[in-house]
Amino acid sequence: MFKKQSVSAYSKKVRAREASAEKTVTQLIDGQREPNKKLNAILEINERALQRAKEVDEGRFDKGRLTGVPILVKDNFCVAGQSATAASRILENFKPPYTAHCIQRLEDEGAIIIGKTNMDEFAMGSSNENSFFGPCRNPWNLDYVPGGSSGGSAAAVAAGLAPISVGSDTGGSIRQPASFCGVVGIKPTYGAVSRYGMIAFASSLDQAGTFGRSVADAALALEVMIDHDTRDATNVRTPFATLSTNKSLPLKGVRVGVVKEYMAADLNKELREAIEGNIETLKQQGCEIVDVSLPHTDYAIPVYYLVAASEASSNLSRYDGVRYGLRDLSSPTDEPLQDLNDFYKRTRSHGFGDEVKRRILLGTFSLSAGYFDAFYAKACQVRRLISDDFKNAYEKCDFIVGPVSTAPAFKMGEKKDDPISMYYNDILTTPASLAGLPSMSLPLGLSSERLPLGLQVIAPPFHDDKMVMFANALEELIGFTEVCNV
Ligand code: GLN
Repeated sequence: MFKKQSVSAYSKKVRAREASAEKTVTQLIDGQREPNKKLNAILEINERALQRAKEVDEGRFDKGRLTGVPILVKDNFCVAGQSATAASRILENFKPPYTAHCIQRLEDEGAIIIGKTNMDEFAMGSSNENSFFGPCRNPWNLDYVPGGSSGGSAAAVAAGLAPISVGSDTGGSIRQPASFCGVVGIKPTYGAVSRYGMIAFASSLDQAGTFGRSVADAALALEVMIDHDTRDATNVRTPFATLSTNKSLPLKGVRVGVVKEYMAADLNKELREAIEGNIETLKQQGCEIVDVSLPHTDYAIPVYYLVAASEASSNLSRYDGVRYGLRDLSSPTDEPLQDLNDFYKRTRSHGFGDEVKRRILLGTFSLSAGYFDAFYAKACQVRRLISDDFKNAYEKCDFIVGPVSTAPAFKMGEKKDDPISMYYNDILTTPASLAGLPSMSLPLGLSSERLPLGLQVIAPPFHDDKMVMFANALEELIGFTEVCNV
């Protein structure tokens, strides 16, 4: 139903009583059952969604920008009264009493949260295979991963289970699954969306963002989520009031940066051809193509995995079995409980999955007194160099375009037991995250195996509105209309 219709057109109809939110929500909730058995993209349906839809139809939200629009939310955002598990056993039964600020914003504008989506545990992963609730699958081909960590949110929009979903991006978790699933995914500038009520992974990198079938859809929801909130100390007032969701940037004279190091990466052949073809089209449209260099790109993976793991080890120390979440003191050998450390150890051993444990160990190590300077502090210094690379590049160009990942979606199980190769999947998304830049992914085409290929756009800080206008122009040029059938 949303395959052709934009969410703003639909919302207008709901406000004019020409469409019924109740009917739409019922159709989506009934319609997701069969495909979701195959995909495992949705973890929980919101029981109150229908009630809210009725209120929408009664006219309670007639001034909203998203009146009646059904939205799915990644399971690391708090929605009062609904589970928020972060796909971890340790939060399996956690129902937060409050709603994340950015989700509240969506609800205030009349959106209807219809459910929560699958993800990698605590947003750690690139394939959605690290979920306690089982992996999510790619709707274009069920043998392939949807990407991660926001795999459920991307797969659900691609499969038409909702027109919009919310995700989080720490090192690529919106852009990479968007590219693997053939949808639009936008991560704003760090600090644009409040992190209040979003379950923390790596606080200096975590940002909320959106998925949609079109740039305008994803941007409209993101525009609503962007708001100043004093409960997140890193949240800032953005210089733009809207995201110019329906405007296209005139392409003539736009300086488009092509990153030498990104194009030198070992790119899949079809993906490279698609990206190069797009750059050629931009040139024909009057863009100035500028070669730029981000010389510290090779350090992005080690820096990201040190910074993110360090912050995660600190953030995840709150799951101790005392205050909330799981308490599981069982021991395989029925040993009696020794002391407080043993208490913590048992719950955390049972509650966290392997990847989360790996990161806690790595992060605790790099923050420890003897190694802090050599690892964490050094990583922070190199992070600055990576940021400076972008600053230099943006003296020569307005936007950067390139691939999101080095290849389209990979097969389930292909990288699961090889963390390093899984980490290297993020080589083209982590640099912008470390620099806090707005960036997004949009569908560029399909491979010969009918797997989506994605294009990444990276903009200077707080140029989110211009990035959206540029992406609108790109979207018109690309004209991607393929849909998948699950
Ligand atoms: N794949 C990256 C990781 O595993 C990024 C995750 C994310 O952006 N949340 O950390």
